[in-house]
Amino acid sequence: MAAQDCIFCKIIDGDIPSSKVYEDDHVYAFLDISQVTKGHTLVIPKNHEKDIFELEEETASHLFKAVPKIAKALNKTFQPKGMNILNNNKEFAGQSVFHYHLHLLPRYGDNDGFQ
Ligand code: 5GP
Ligand code: ZN
Repeated sequence: MAAQDCIFCKIIDGDIPSSKVYEDDHVYAFLDISQVTKGHTLVIPKNHEKDIFELEEETASHLFKAVPKIAKALNKTFQPKGMNILNNNKEFAGQSVFHYHLHLLPRYGDNDGFQ
Protein backbone atom coordinates (compact mmCIF):
# COMPACT_ATOMS: atom_id res chain seq x y z
CA MET A 1 0.00 0.00 0.00
CA ALA A 2 1.33 3.41 -0.97
CA ALA A 3 1.43 6.13 1.65
CA GLN A 4 0.38 9.66 0.78
CA ASP A 5 3.19 12.20 0.88
CA CYS A 6 5.88 9.51 0.77
CA ILE A 7 8.58 10.40 -1.79
CA PHE A 8 9.58 6.75 -2.28
CA CYS A 9 5.97 5.60 -2.85
CA LYS A 10 5.75 8.33 -5.52
CA ILE A 11 8.98 7.06 -7.07
CA ILE A 12 7.59 3.50 -7.20
CA ASP A 13 4.39 4.81 -8.82
CA GLY A 14 6.44 6.78 -11.37
CA ASP A 15 5.04 10.12 -10.16
CA ILE A 16 8.59 11.23 -9.32
CA PRO A 17 11.26 10.24 -11.88
CA SER A 18 14.16 8.06 -10.80
CA SER A 19 17.08 6.20 -12.37
CA LYS A 20 15.96 2.59 -12.06
CA VAL A 21 18.59 -0.02 -11.26
CA TYR A 22 16.32 -3.02 -10.61
CA GLU A 23 12.65 -3.89 -10.25
CA ASP A 24 10.59 -6.98 -9.46
CA ASP A 25 7.10 -7.53 -8.07
CA HIS A 26 8.11 -6.56 -4.54
CA VAL A 27 11.30 -4.51 -4.77
CA TYR A 28 12.49 -1.35 -6.51
CA ALA A 29 16.08 -0.05 -6.65
CA PHE A 30 17.23 3.31 -7.98
CA LEU A 31 20.19 5.67 -7.83
CA ASP A 32 20.28 7.99 -4.84
CA ILE A 33 19.70 11.59 -5.94
CA SER A 34 22.74 12.59 -3.89
CA GLN A 35 25.50 10.15 -4.89
CA VAL A 36 27.79 9.70 -1.86
CA THR A 37 29.89 7.40 -4.06
CA LYS A 38 29.47 6.53 -7.74
CA GLY A 39 26.57 4.06 -8.11
CA HIS A 40 25.05 4.82 -4.66
CA THR A 41 21.77 2.92 -4.85
CA LEU A 42 18.67 2.71 -2.68
CA VAL A 43 16.77 -0.58 -2.43
CA ILE A 44 13.17 -0.32 -1.22
CA PRO A 45 10.20 -2.62 -0.75
CA LYS A 46 7.13 -1.69 -2.80
CA ASN A 47 5.10 -1.95 0.42
CA HIS A 48 5.25 1.19 2.48
CA GLU A 49 6.80 0.14 5.79
CA LYS A 50 8.55 2.90 7.68
CA ASP A 51 11.60 1.32 9.21
CA ILE A 52 13.12 -1.91 10.51
CA PHE A 53 10.68 -1.82 13.42
CA GLU A 54 7.72 -1.98 11.00
CA LEU A 55 9.28 -4.26 8.41
CA GLU A 56 7.32 -7.48 7.89
CA GLU A 57 9.32 -10.72 7.66
CA GLU A 58 7.92 -11.40 4.22
CA THR A 59 8.91 -7.93 3.01
CA ALA A 60 12.40 -8.39 4.43
CA SER A 61 12.71 -11.73 2.68
CA HIS A 62 11.72 -10.26 -0.71
CA LEU A 63 14.12 -7.38 -0.17
CA PHE A 64 17.13 -9.45 0.80
CA LYS A 65 16.50 -11.91 -2.00
CA ALA A 66 16.98 -9.03 -4.43
CA VAL A 67 20.00 -7.42 -2.74
CA PRO A 68 22.73 -9.79 -4.02
CA LYS A 69 21.42 -9.46 -7.59
CA ILE A 70 21.51 -5.67 -7.32
CA ALA A 71 24.95 -5.69 -5.67
CA LYS A 72 26.31 -7.91 -8.47
CA ALA A 73 24.79 -5.65 -11.13
CA LEU A 74 26.43 -2.61 -9.50
CA ASN A 75 29.75 -4.46 -9.33
CA LYS A 76 29.53 -5.16 -13.02
CA THR A 77 28.59 -1.61 -13.99
CA PHE A 78 30.80 0.43 -11.64
CA GLN A 79 33.58 -2.06 -10.81
CA PRO A 80 34.12 -0.86 -7.22
CA LYS A 81 36.68 -2.41 -4.89
CA GLY A 82 34.02 -3.11 -2.24
CA MET A 83 30.53 -2.20 -1.10
CA ASN A 84 28.87 -1.02 2.11
CA ILE A 85 25.22 -1.80 2.79
CA LEU A 86 23.65 0.58 5.30
CA ASN A 87 20.25 1.29 6.80
CA ASN A 88 19.21 4.20 9.05
CA ASN A 89 16.18 3.73 11.30
CA LYS A 90 14.37 6.72 12.80
CA GLU A 91 15.40 10.35 12.74
CA PHE A 92 17.80 9.97 15.66
CA ALA A 93 19.83 7.46 13.62
CA GLY A 94 19.87 9.65 10.51
CA GLN A 95 16.77 8.42 8.66
CA SER A 96 15.33 11.20 6.52
CA VAL A 97 12.86 9.30 4.30
CA PHE A 98 10.45 7.19 6.30
CA HIS A 99 9.97 4.33 3.84
CA TYR A 100 12.37 1.50 4.62
CA HIS A 101 15.48 1.49 2.43
CA LEU A 102 18.95 0.06 2.19
CA HIS A 103 21.86 2.13 0.91
CA LEU A 104 24.23 0.20 -1.37
CA LEU A 105 27.46 2.17 -1.45
CA PRO A 106 30.10 1.01 -3.92
CA ARG A 107 33.58 1.79 -2.55
CA TYR A 108 36.59 2.75 -4.60
CA GLY A 109 39.29 3.42 -2.01
CA ASP A 110 40.45 6.39 0.05
CA ASN A 111 38.66 9.69 -0.58
CA ASP A 112 35.83 8.07 -2.54
CA GLY A 113 33.32 10.28 -0.69
CA PHE A 114 32.39 8.06 2.24
CA GLN A 115 34.26 7.72 5.52
P1 5GP B 1 18.17 8.24 4.72
O1 5GP B 1 18.80 9.53 5.13
O2 5GP B 1 16.70 8.23 5.08
O3 5GP B 1 18.88 7.02 5.17
O4 5GP B 1 18.29 8.20 3.15
C1 5GP B 1 17.40 8.86 2.29
C2 5GP B 1 18.09 8.99 0.97
O5 5GP B 1 17.12 9.30 0.01
C3 5GP B 1 19.13 10.12 0.93
O6 5GP B 1 20.41 9.55 0.64
C4 5GP B 1 18.62 11.04 -0.17
O7 5GP B 1 19.65 11.56 -0.99
C5 5GP B 1 17.70 10.14 -0.96
N1 5GP B 1 16.60 10.84 -1.62
C6 5GP B 1 15.75 11.75 -1.04
N2 5GP B 1 14.85 12.19 -1.95
C7 5GP B 1 15.14 11.54 -3.11
C8 5GP B 1 14.54 11.58 -4.41
O8 5GP B 1 13.57 12.29 -4.69
N3 5GP B 1 15.11 10.78 -5.37
C9 5GP B 1 16.18 9.97 -5.11
N4 5GP B 1 16.66 9.25 -6.11
N5 5GP B 1 16.76 9.91 -3.89
C10 5GP B 1 16.24 10.68 -2.89
ZN1 ZN C 1 6.36 4.98 1.00
